[in-house]
Amino acid sequence: MMKTVIPFLARTDETDRRMWLAALKHAMPDFRIEPLAQLTVQERDAATVAIGADPDPDDFQKLPNLQWVQSLWAGVEQIAAELPRDNLRIVRMADPQMAETMGEAVLAWTLYLHRDMPRYARQQSTGQWIPHELPLPKDRTIGILGMGNLGGRAAEKLLQQGFDVCGWSRTERTMDGVRGFFGAEGLNRILAISDILVILLPLTEETRGLLERSRLGLMPKGSSLINFARGPVVDDAALLECLDSGQIDHAVLDVFHEEPLPQSSPYWTHPGVTVLPHISGPTNRETASAIVAANITAFFANGKMPTGIDRARGY
Ligand code: NAP
Repeated sequence: MMKTVIPFLARTDETDRRMWLAALKHAMPDFRIEPLAQLTVQERDAATVAIGADPDPDDFQKLPNLQWVQSLWAGVEQIAAELPRDNLRIVRMADPQMAETMGEAVLAWTLYLHRDMPRYARQQSTGQWIPHELPLPKDRTIGILGMGNLGGRAAEKLLQQGFDVCGWSRTERTMDGVRGFFGAEGLNRILAISDILVILLPLTEETRGLLERSRLGLMPKGSSLINFARGPVVDDAALLECLDSGQIDHAVLDVFHEEPLPQSSPYWTHPGVTVLPHISGPTNRETASAIVAANITAFFANGKMPTGIDRARGY
């Protein structure tokens, strides 16, 4: 029997592309997954679903009957901006394993800040033996901006550790043990009480530049920030100003306006900044491929398309 062809659209580097193709082919032996260049015109015309890893928007012109695209990434701001609005459904990666991995990263770096590790590293570099008071986790308020797949799981892990956890979302949400905030007024309130602020928002028209000078200025003096979402959610100049003034003590940054972070960036050498190379929540090829396989198999079995992002909302 002829296997259904699924185009694989990727602008990632050659090695990454090859590894993804191998993982996807392994997870979906009943389908033929091929880069666009390997497909005949008839095969392109027949394709109704594609898999995308940073796809080139021009490739979609060559697939006239495509109904939906499965993204391998959780953040879809680029594909959403590049594809004509309402043209076709974009399904983003929602992998419980990714939420688990991101939750682990949030816990690890929250503990790094909670246990004053940047300060002790600074002390060691100048041979200083100075113990500091250690607050209990219940007295440390962690504010999470974005309570979706990733923020929700991070909140659970922080609660298990005994922290005082608050969450901010666009719509009103409740979660046991978490104080919920929403809307513009809610943002001001959560910022004002967060000793450690964790950013896990999608990048949209509403969240771009959200954390600018006046909002960062609401955070308690000496508080810290972790950005695991997207660089442009934070205004860099405002953050550097707050770090220099001591308003914000430390920032753990995994995402930036430009990646890789240019060598000229002051973040590289700022004593109040930990730079990470976008590693907090990597997509795992094996578990993500299993999710792609389940979505695509269900579509061909019963015609049911997975839920897509809301193009107007941007996530
Ligand atoms: P998600 O499930 O769509 O959750 C997004 C959350 O943000 C929801 O709670 C949503 O509110 C909230 N939100 C969106 N716009 C908002 C606004 N204007 N005001 C207030 N809240 C708003 O997304 P996710 O899977 O958790 O992923 C979040 C982001 O993490 C991704 O978009 C991606 O950029 C980033 N990410 C980073 C890495 C990394 O390695 N650094 C890895 C994966 C993902 P509602 O609940 O009301 O809808």
